[in-house]
Amino acid sequence: AGTLRLVLGDQLSESLAGLRDLDPAADTVLMAEVEAECTYVRHHKQKIALVLSAMRHFGQALAALGTRVRYVRLDDPANTGSLEGEVGRAVRELRPDRVVVTHPGEWRLLEAMRGWEEALALPVDILEDDRFLCSIHEFRRWAAGERQLRMEFFYRAMRRTHGVLMEADGAPLGGAWNFDRENRAPLRRLPPVPPRPVVEPDETTRGVMVLVERRFPGHFGALEGFGWPVTRAQAVRALEDFVGRRFPGFGLHQDQMAAGEPFLFHALVSTSLNLGLLLPWEVCAAAEAAYRTGHVPLAAAEGFVRQVLGWREYVRGVYWLRMPGYRALNALEASRPLPGFFWTGETRMNCVRQVVRQTRDHAYAHHIQRLMVTGNFALMAGLHPDAVNEWYLIVFADAYEWVELPNVHGMALHADGGLMGSKPYAASGAYINRMSDYCRGCAYDVREVAGEGACPFNSLYWDFVARHRDRFAANPRMGPVVRALDRMDAARLGAIRARAAGVLEDMAAL
Ligand code: FAD
Ligand code: SF4
Repeated sequence: AGTLRLVLGDQLSESLAGLRDLDPAADTVLMAEVEAECTYVRHHKQKIALVLSAMRHFGQALAALGTRVRYVRLDDPANTGSLEGEVGRAVRELRPDRVVVTHPGEWRLLEAMRGWEEALALPVDILEDDRFLCSIHEFRRWAAGERQLRMEFFYRAMRRTHGVLMEADGAPLGGAWNFDRENRAPLRRLPPVPPRPVVEPDETTRGVMVLVERRFPGHFGALEGFGWPVTRAQAVRALEDFVGRRFPGFGLHQDQMAAGEPFLFHALVSTSLNLGLLLPWEVCAAAEAAYRTGHVPLAAAEGFVRQVLGWREYVRGVYWLRMPGYRALNALEASRPLPGFFWTGETRMNCVRQVVRQTRDHAYAHHIQRLMVTGNFALMAGLHPDAVNEWYLIVFADAYEWVELPNVHGMALHADGGLMGSKPYAASGAYINRMSDYCRGCAYDVREVAGEGACPFNSLYWDFVARHRDRFAANPRMGPVVRALDRMDAARLGAIRARAAGVLEDMAAL
């Protein structure tokens, strides 16, 4: 009797909908570490360790509050290896009246759960996941009234609805919605970067790390150096550390990249937000308070709030609005396989090498590295979206499909034909050179476009525009680039495209 309440690995919030009306005398919470979730893609070792350790801590915390927790470990001999199997086993043994789950973050799980009622011959309630500032339903309503799904307009609506960084009269603080111009400074001299707060692995995390190394030795990534928060208290401290030490530099250095500096002034809160250890409104409130007390400039606070209240909610909305068809779109008909250096980092392109290596070591790269280095290369080289999406889902500790897919498929690859971005984020080496110090340490010459030693991003850029000339000619934001292409001297364009052909023919040699 009672209710069986399944809590998934990314639902580690005490306020979770599925835990809200829990009856400690009758109900049981089920948490299960299952092989299927660890291997449906070959996740980075740190990502598996993070989720399993955070789950164990959360299960222990619930039990300490007096909740009955049925916690199934990965190496439990009776573990069936799948969520469906573990729910079925619990139902047979505990005979609950019903099963309660909170809406999962991935379409494939929602599809599976919709079949459980029949399979288990029990009512299965799927509750709304209200740990977001915009519900799936509200996003649908907003989208229905828009001609184009532009993040900027969604973000303004969210600022108004939630009263974040607003004047009393309904105007945005500082008289503008957007301070991006102040937040996009090129890299000149970097001030000293405060060190990343590392959470030393405790006994639980160390145990999980041994388990991951034993069970998933072939997965991507290094485990040493694991330092992610695995409890709510640690996540709150990490947020405080960001606000106190790195937030003042966040806006100015937001889009910059520097060799040997994987974290710069970023918040490092996505892993905690996506697990449910932090909630988006407390993160926004911390940002607003830092501005109102004079600790950070408005541009930094606005730039940060835009990411959490704007982008994060927006990509989730797009995901649930457009799935399941979204993933299959391939507007630019990209078809090439992923070159091996995405896994090894062994390439002479210093920007790619830096980003892949830090991703291997930390399961982390910041936004511009993801978008303008690996994403930009994948876009311009025409790598197949399935392969690229899988890579992004594997390599980052914060990756779940609801947030990974729109960012990669829509923002980075333009595979949705422009639903999310009004133009593709393609850029030549000049952009990377402006925003980073990577080119100084590179074997390629960022000023050269054609010929053997030329930066591959340069020829790929023009080749990409030429390949999709007709599509882009109709795009108002790409028009000037297409006209520049059309004006280019034929011999020069021929040499550039020959270089691009060489680059694409043998990417392994780059
Ligand atoms: P900060 O730069 O300090 O930003 C603060 C917070 O804003 C982040 O923690 C995050 O919660 C939110 N945020 C910022 N940008 C985005 C965005 N575009 N979409 C959603 N949330 C955002 N983020 C993920 O959480 N998981 C992913 O799998 C993921 N994949 C990405 C793939 C690509 C190609 C790109 C371009 C971006 C991706 N992002 C993803 C968004 C962003 O890169 C990360 O959220 C961010 O780098 C996390 O680091 P941080 O906490 O230090 O972020
Ligand atoms: Fe990257 Fe080109 Fe710069 Fe090398 S020269 S770091 S390949 S952008």
